[in-house]
Amino acid sequence: MRLYLINPYNPLVSLINSKQNRWNRYTVWKPLGLLVIAAMTPREWEITVFDENVERHDYSTLPVPDLVGITAFTSQADRAYTIATEFRQRGAPVVIGGIHATMCSAEAAQWVDSVVTGEAESVWKELLADASNGCLRPVYDGARISLDHMPMARHDLLSTGYRFGSIQTTRGCPLACCFCSVSAFNGRQYRRRPIADVIREFQSIRENLVLVVDDNFIGTSKEHISRTKDLLRAIIDSKIRKRWIAQATINLGDDDELLALAARAGCIGVFIGFETTSTEGLEEIHKKINIRKKRDIKIAIRRIHKHGITVVGSFIIGLDVDKKHVGRNIAETAQQYGLDTINVVFLTPLPGTRLWDEMNAKNRVILKRSRSDWRYYTLTFPVARYNHLSWREMIAEKEKCFRVFYAYTAIFCRVCSCVFHLRNPVLTLFSNLSYRGNTLRLDRAVYKDFDISLGETTMHKNADESGE
Ligand code: SF4
Repeated sequence: MRLYLINPYNPLVSLINSKQNRWNRYTVWKPLGLLVIAAMTPREWEITVFDENVERHDYSTLPVPDLVGITAFTSQADRAYTIATEFRQRGAPVVIGGIHATMCSAEAAQWVDSVVTGEAESVWKELLADASNGCLRPVYDGARISLDHMPMARHDLLSTGYRFGSIQTTRGCPLACCFCSVSAFNGRQYRRRPIADVIREFQSIRENLVLVVDDNFIGTSKEHISRTKDLLRAIIDSKIRKRWIAQATINLGDDDELLALAARAGCIGVFIGFETTSTEGLEEIHKKINIRKKRDIKIAIRRIHKHGITVVGSFIIGLDVDKKHVGRNIAETAQQYGLDTINVVFLTPLPGTRLWDEMNAKNRVILKRSRSDWRYYTLTFPVARYNHLSWREMIAEKEKCFRVFYAYTAIFCRVCSCVFHLRNPVLTLFSNLSYRGNTLRLDRAVYKDFDISLGETTMHKNADESGE
């Protein structure tokens, strides 16, 4: 039996395509979900994994498989449906899973034989048995699984072309930011894999650089943090000696012991969502952890830096509180915080999130005209009607932000600071040049084909025009 597992072309990755910007190879990582599904697949299936973000394939030249499994974020949905159609025309049954298919299962069902909602692991074996017997059901409802017996991902199946290996140690996030699909998909319960399993999987990864894909690596409660410390001690004891990057919340900067362990365990960088520079903005998106206990973000970042760990901060443009000059404001605040790199995205109502429900109810989601609009849900395009900023202004604000933060003199000072404070200057240099190149050169080319006139109206202007 032949099984193809496909990670469709993702426009976000194409925006930062390594072939277009030589600094970008640092940003491509493996599609871990497919590798876990592969690990759960019985031996009689011959598995091939295709990652279109590394290499495009002409599927018509390949043998017709017995089953095609596709995963997709919202931005990949359009391409996923095209692939599905191509295979179905050749007689291969197609199943789709992942966040988008879960949140838009009725839409996905139009293009495939079977939709898996939720976490596919809980239904995968049953689905394969049905596929073998030619009786796939139209929908398989996956439940949230316990991670106690999660198999080790088949890292061997995709072994070349990646700078980063990837691993997952937890699922879910106790917080509930309104724009985020993690709590809707993986739940607010913070599930953790057994430490021994994580260590074994870490040891099986070939790449020296690893991305810990957990949405929140450390969690929020004392118990979560204590488990993270145990995991870090186990990584140190097992002498894995990989260098890795993780996503965490700002409470990471509250705990020196945690940071010292993380650094000794190989952590070289963390990605933290600051989202906005204003308290009102944080309240608007329900990310109150950043303002809890009168936190001093500058001190928290300094503490993280003290342990040689680089901090990448993520910010959003397009909140209801955001007005003109938000871009410059983000850049200057990020510089004051001492961040090594920043990523700036547009507020994007992803299907299944509270933000989608709220914006959709007010008719603020503009790009939902057809399946091809999903291509713009990369967080790098404005897709909704914003309160004070038109699309043109949103893009200009982002560009301004990057022009200020990624000015060559600023990059030079940042890299010097890394050398001086024993953080990884190469990582900072590469990521800074990558963001600078993408935004100031590639983004412009991409936005040229984007119909900005659709977003000329803001909520604010609407109100003015209607005399409210
Ligand atoms: S903290 Fe991060 S992962 Fe958790 S809900 Fe907020 S954005 Fe999502």
